[in-house]
Amino acid sequence: SSRTPESFIDVLVIGAGPAGLMCSNALASAGDIKLRVIDQRPAKVAVGHSDGTQPRTIEVLQSYGLAERLLREGNQIHMSAFYNPNPNGGIEASIQRPRLSCRAPDVTAPTARYPFEVTVHQGIVENIFIDSMMLHGLRIDRPVKPCAIEFPHDRPSHPIKVTLERLDAATDEEKAEIIYAKYVVGTDGAHSWVRQSLGITMDGEQTGGFPFNSTWGVVDMIPDTNFPDIRNGSGIHSTNGSCLIVPREGDKIRLYVQLADEDVLDPRTGRVDKARMSLEGILEVAKKSLYPFYIRPLTDVEWWTIYTVGQRVASKYSVGDRVFIAGDACHTHSAKAGQGMNASMNDTHNLAWKIVQVLRGWAHPSILKTYESERRKYAQDLIDFDKEYSALLSGKPRTSEDQDGVSHEQYLIVFQAFGDFTSGIGVHYGPSAIVITKHQECARNLVIGDRMLPQIFVRAADSRPVEIQDLLPADIRWKVLVFLGILDESHLPGVKALAEELDEPTSFLRKYPIDGQIPLIFDIISIVSGDKTVFNYLNVPDIFRPHWSKVLLDDTDVTGAKGGGAYERLGVNTRDVTFVIVRPDGYVGMIAPCSALKDLHEYFGSFLISHPSHTCLGTD
Ligand code: FAD
Repeated sequence: SSRTPESFIDVLVIGAGPAGLMCSNALASAGDIKLRVIDQRPAKVAVGHSDGTQPRTIEVLQSYGLAERLLREGNQIHMSAFYNPNPNGGIEASIQRPRLSCRAPDVTAPTARYPFEVTVHQGIVENIFIDSMMLHGLRIDRPVKPCAIEFPHDRPSHPIKVTLERLDAATDEEKAEIIYAKYVVGTDGAHSWVRQSLGITMDGEQTGGFPFNSTWGVVDMIPDTNFPDIRNGSGIHSTNGSCLIVPREGDKIRLYVQLADEDVLDPRTGRVDKARMSLEGILEVAKKSLYPFYIRPLTDVEWWTIYTVGQRVASKYSVGDRVFIAGDACHTHSAKAGQGMNASMNDTHNLAWKIVQVLRGWAHPSILKTYESERRKYAQDLIDFDKEYSALLSGKPRTSEDQDGVSHEQYLIVFQAFGDFTSGIGVHYGPSAIVITKHQECARNLVIGDRMLPQIFVRAADSRPVEIQDLLPADIRWKVLVFLGILDESHLPGVKALAEELDEPTSFLRKYPIDGQIPLIFDIISIVSGDKTVFNYLNVPDIFRPHWSKVLLDDTDVTGAKGGGAYERLGVNTRDVTFVIVRPDGYVGMIAPCSALKDLHEYFGSFLISHPSHTCLGTD
């Protein structure tokens, strides 16, 4: 009707789970994006759902300034324990082979800045985002859902028309609203309305995991137990089925209990029927699987569910690079490797900065194509991993009667081999316009396409130790790390000449939007190999020293305990100048020696839009 209110915005986010919240918070903290986020649920998740935050996700949260609260409120899992059947019909943690023990670090990713998993229920993670968004003046609009999405031709600036329905409206007039958006992000979960409305199919297995049992009972509770590894992450193989124990905030744990098909599947449809299983039923299975240890709830159970997931990935992640889907809307996998929430949040961490750069007129819209190429590939790898891992976890354990079963060694080897992957640290983006691998040899151990490694430097001006990842916030800007090497008399003249060259109007540091002398798109950090007790930071030419805090030394801090050795560790030559370009999401996009400035110019020229006179921001 003519009375239906209309509004024009930059981005509409549909669904405020982990993926939608990461997206909304990233867009809101950019400060200049007209944004709406809607969710059909009247209130946020209070209990249950996903509960594991992996090491890379903690780094990502830290890049938004949000890790501290998670670390404070969450439980940390440092150790995992493994149990197998014993000859007496129970389970035990012993292991026959030398070198393999019954416990191993929960995270086997040696470069992780936070080498552990943080476990809390999803609602706490969501709260962290919701509070941060409030500081940026953004609230979730709920309960609201979309009911139509169209692409009318008459509004090229805002080509997507979404009709919203307010579910708690008192009158019909208040019910509908029309939004014209430049971009829409569908983060509306596994049954995504956005995905279905766009006709995007899911490829893969609907029920997942066949022939392995893939239905699990999930219980969040405070346990009464004599199981000695209750505060470690525990994987239990018993002849009765597998169990996983995830220690959680406070005294809570989450219990994953493998259920037998005959107990949960409807024989007529072959589908899971939740009504066939009860909390008591799940606890009964757990009791048998953990024998001779006992486990029972000490207090009322907080939350429980039956969880079964197929391993599927959407055939595409976007329509016309205008409407995107992310999170469970485009990939689902089993919960056992604890990836659901992590993969989902990292999807939109990858996407949000690209949308902002395009909206600001910094980057060409073609950059948006890398969202699908990077994240869909990752989802496929995740599913391949998940299939192997779930099969091992759900498979029958090897016993003296069943020599074909899964051995403890097999499980442990896979668990450790995929450590990089499950921690998220091993996420690698392949070559594209924004990942150019040409000069990898200039920093041999800094893999182009991986996230920037954590490393402590000392600030040259005040010798304060700083973690490089903290100087790479998710603030939409490209970080230009300039490894200047040793600034002695033989090297300094060359560095000065380079500074002059980079000050030319054609230089990539001058060509793109600039505020006075400071580039808006780039954050320049220089790293010198030198001694904090004698180095004069003012020797660093102006262009490499936009602020005193941006000159770092590869040296130890005053205690000698932190920092130093970065040039060697990363494989960077101290007699050359090496540029390391870190994308706004923290991934290394390009490396170049100073003799290859042309390659740097070409790199940025292929996706950034130059307009040297442009000094103010605008989203139109
Ligand atoms: P979701 O968290 O599903 O968020 C989607 C949001 O969109 C929701 O807030 C929903 O209300 C909203 N929405 C949906 N449709 C619409 C619409 N049409 N209009 C407006 N809003 C809409 N993962 C694990 O790793 N371990 C677990 O144990 C585990 N247990 C789970 C138990 C349950 C019951 C569920 C539902 C999920 C569980 N998951 C688990 C999966 C994990 O929660 C997801 O992988 C993760 O939440 C994905 O985040 P997301 O933002 O993509 O989707």
